[in-house]
Amino acid sequence: MPRGIKAAPAFLDSTSFVKSVERTCKTRKLRLTRVRAQVLRLIANSDKPIKAYSLLELMNLEAELVVDVSIAPITVYRALNFLQSNGFIRKLVSINAFVPSMYPVDQRLIYFLCLQCSSATEIYNEEMLHTIDDQAKELSFEPETQSIEVRGNCDKCRLKLRKRHLGLRR
Ligand SMILES: [Zn+2]
Repeated sequence: MPRGIKAAPAFLDSTSFVKSVERTCKTRKLRLTRVRAQVLRLIANSDKPIKAYSLLELMNLEAELVVDVSIAPITVYRALNFLQSNGFIRKLVSINAFVPSMYPVDQRLIYFLCLQCSSATEIYNEEMLHTIDDQAKELSFEPETQSIEVRGNCDKCRLKLRKRHLGLRR
């Protein structure tokens, strides 16, 4: 990959991601409560961006195994809020779902989202962000968006779609 472009390490290994968040919380004296840790683990273990209601469903499934109480949506939203405001997760606005992230909260990122398999690839590209900043300055526009989301088809799905298309034509 060219200089200034980094793919996120967070997507590689969920266990080490959770461990590194635990360490960061200790150094920054943040309280990673049981619920917050559970939400973090579920997001880290998900192979694609996950929505709040899916998290709630999974948490209720896990809770049923232990005690017969259901979890209130507000509990999940509060945990998501904590994780998001400390930069451990990101919300993908265009699909209303969450992904793990180890970039500082003010670090703008670029996401490539696949419409077929719902995968998300997180990229940090300094050069591209500078271009947007320069353009904004020229327009006297003050950007607030923390992530840029590009929707389309990933390499795997693109090939699958092409094969299907070729098969239909035969
Ligand atoms: Zn795909």
